[in-house]
Parts: sequence; C-alpha cells; structure tokens
Amino acid sequence: MSHRLIACEHCDYLHVEEDIPAGSVAYCVRCGSPLYSAAQARFDKPLALAITAFLLFLIANSYPVLTFAMEGRVESNTLGSGVVTFWREGFPFLAIMVAVTSMLAPMGLILAHIYVLLPITLNKQVPGMQQVWRILAMIRPWSMLDVFLIGLLVALTKLTDFAEVIAGPAFFAICCLIPTVLLMNVTLDPRYVWRRLAPTTLRYPTSDDIAEADHQKEPLLTCHTCAMVVLGNGRQDVRCPRCGDMVHLRKPRSLSRAWALLLAAVILYVPANVFPIMTVTYLGRGEADTILSGVSALINAGEWPIAIVVFAASILVPIVKIVLLGWVYLATALGLSGPLRERTLIYRVTELVGRWSMVDVFMVSILAALVKLGNIATVQPGFGAVAFCGVVILTMLSAMAFDPRLIWDRAGMQSGRVPVLGGTKSKQDRVEKQGVPS
Ligand SMILES: [Zn+2]
Ligand SMILES: [Zn+2]
Repeated sequence: MSHRLIACEHCDYLHVEEDIPAGSVAYCVRCGSPLYSAAQARFDKPLALAITAFLLFLIANSYPVLTFAMEGRVESNTLGSGVVTFWREGFPFLAIMVAVTSMLAPMGLILAHIYVLLPITLNKQVPGMQQVWRILAMIRPWSMLDVFLIGLLVALTKLTDFAEVIAGPAFFAICCLIPTVLLMNVTLDPRYVWRRLAPTTLRYPTSDDIAEADHQKEPLLTCHTCAMVVLGNGRQDVRCPRCGDMVHLRKPRSLSRAWALLLAAVILYVPANVFPIMTVTYLGRGEADTILSGVSALINAGEWPIAIVVFAASILVPIVKIVLLGWVYLATALGLSGPLRERTLIYRVTELVGRWSMVDVFMVSILAALVKLGNIATVQPGFGAVAFCGVVILTMLSAMAFDPRLIWDRAGMQSGRVPVLGGTKSKQDRVEKQGVPS
C-alpha cells in the first residue's frame, strides 16, 4: 500500500497525506504549521477569478487612483505615477521596488495563474507550464497590492485635511482586486497543480522506499518549490523529478546568509529613522517628515486608527521582527532546546507580517506623485525612505534565507520518520484535523 507523503516545510516532520473535510486545514503534529488545506482539485473557479483579477488590474492601471484638487489646480495619479516620480527625483531603488511590489509581481502572479490554469482546464499542454508555476512561487511574496491599498488610505488621510481628494475608478478596482486574488489563492491548492504538471512516468516514493531509506540512514529531501518528498540516494542535493528545481537537504549556508542580511538591516535601520522619508512644502514652508514624526502628526490630527496602523507597520513590526529573528537565529546557532514549537511559530509570523512595513514607502510614492503644486504644496521623497525600504527588503530576504528546519535539527530532533514507519499512531495523530482558524 503506497501513501502520498508530505513533509512539513518548517520542521521536516513526515506525514501521510489524507483527505480532510471541506473548509479545514491539516496541521503538522510536531510544530503546528499548516500543511495543506482542503481545497478541491478543481481549476475552473480559480481560473475564473484569475481572469477577473486580470480585468480589474487593467482598470487599476488605466484610470486615476486619486484626484487631488487644491487652489484651483487638479492633479491625478495612476498606479505607475509613484514609480515615475521616484525615478525622476533620483531614487531609482525606490522606483524599482515600488514597480516590482505594486505592479510587476501582482501582474506576474495573475498572468502565471492564467497561463497554467487555462491549458489545464482545457486539457491541453503549452510549453513552459512547469517553469511558469515555479517562477510563481518566487514572485508570490513580492506581490503587495494589499499593502499598497493601506498606503493609499494613509495618503488619503494625510491629504483630506488641506485639499479635496476624490477616489478614482482605479481605487475601486484595487479594492475589488485584493479579495479576488485572495479568493483565487484560497480556492486553489498548488499541490493539485503540481500533480497535473508532473511527468506521467513520475513515481512517488512509497512508505516502503521511506522504510528502506530510513534503514540505510539515507537522507530524505523535500523540494522547497513543489513540496515533493524526494529520495536523495546518498546525495544531499538532487534535481526535483517533478518541478525540475534543485532540492537541498537544507538551504545552503542558511544561517550565515540569514545573519548577514539581518545585520545589514540593523545598520540601515539607523538612517531609516534619522533621515526624513519625505519633505512636505506647504504654502512656501518646507517641513521634513521622519517615520516617527509622521506618526505623531497623525496622532495630533486625531487620526487614531490610521496612526495605530502606521505605528504598528512602520515602527513596531521592523523592531520586533529584527529582535525576534535575531533571537531565533541565536537559539538555533547555539542548538538550544526548549519551546521549539513556539520558536517555529515566531519565525512563521515574522515571515508573514514583515511585508506590511512597506506601507510608508507606498504612502511616500503616492504623495510625491500627487502633490506637485510648486510652492503651494509639494511632497519630495527623502533618503530615509530609501533606507527604510532597504530595511524591509533585507529583513524579508533574511527570513527567506533562514531554513526553519534547522531549529529542530540543531536541537537534536530528527525523528520525523516515525509516524509513517511505525504505524503505531492513529490516523488522527498523523494529521490533525482542525477547522480553519477564524
Ligand atoms: Zn512541522
Ligand atoms: Zn519540486
């Protein structure tokens, strides 16, 4: 009897994949990370959502997002205006990062879904489907339209005090686009796509192979891209037979790369807070705004909800993320045992929330593109925004470089093969069945 195997990507614990009730999620029994959800093996619904998202994205790029009227002058911005403004004002790094996160990555994400799901739905083959689906996994973390929307709301709050601001068709298109993309991700399980894209001759490892590998003390590898469990046959890195990506036992030089990127982020954190992220000129008077002064200005204006959001995203999240990641890396390097489950949870949460710090960068890109009325009112980006964007990107790259399975390895926990081989635990024990957390 062969079982389909799934290894937890956070602790490498091996599970037997089972059918779970609709709307539920299977969690790793060891570290508690989600393994897979009970999405159906259907591709028509996510395809319809991807096409809807594509049309909404076209609207979002063709019409003004905000229109700003002051002293009889009117300025509009589109999704790409911030990119152009950053580039013209001499901030190419910010221009590229805003272009990637608010335009190129979301567009790539939507197009990749259509490119792969349309032929699958029609039972056809087109060249490069595997490569496209592999690239999708890489660009997914950089698609930040949801964060961009929060940046828009912050910019809107800052502007309404001294000018008339009207939301354009693109604003509403972005508001509809975000739940559409979210729904597309929820209704589609990438596991089923990988199974459809796999070569027809592909043989999945069975529990017998696993028993043999365990007996020979052979490492079992897990593909980081398609999550297939691969037999290493004595090697610590092989090419995945399903998606073609390189599979490593652990990410190469993971801890040293993660440390280096985190230290670079710590160094950049100082100029990010000292230098202004933008300079606002209003009726001839210029005033520099740092991250901190931006929050206190919102508090003084009585905009508490937005002030709390900006404080959390721009001040709390970066500091907490740097401290917690540093602690996880240190505990891993020292091989500390203790609350490994909680340590894995901390890593997962920091990996998820880090992107929300881009709110301030998006806000500056929107304000700088909109407010260009010479001496009456102008917003110019500052070097603080470059450093701050660097901090966000570096902490994200650091978390990606770190291999959370090291948390368990270094603490001497390598007994992930037991449930499959021993068969002593009940089915309920192998894959916990729980409802989707609300
Ligand atoms: Zn796990
Ligand atoms: Zn793979």
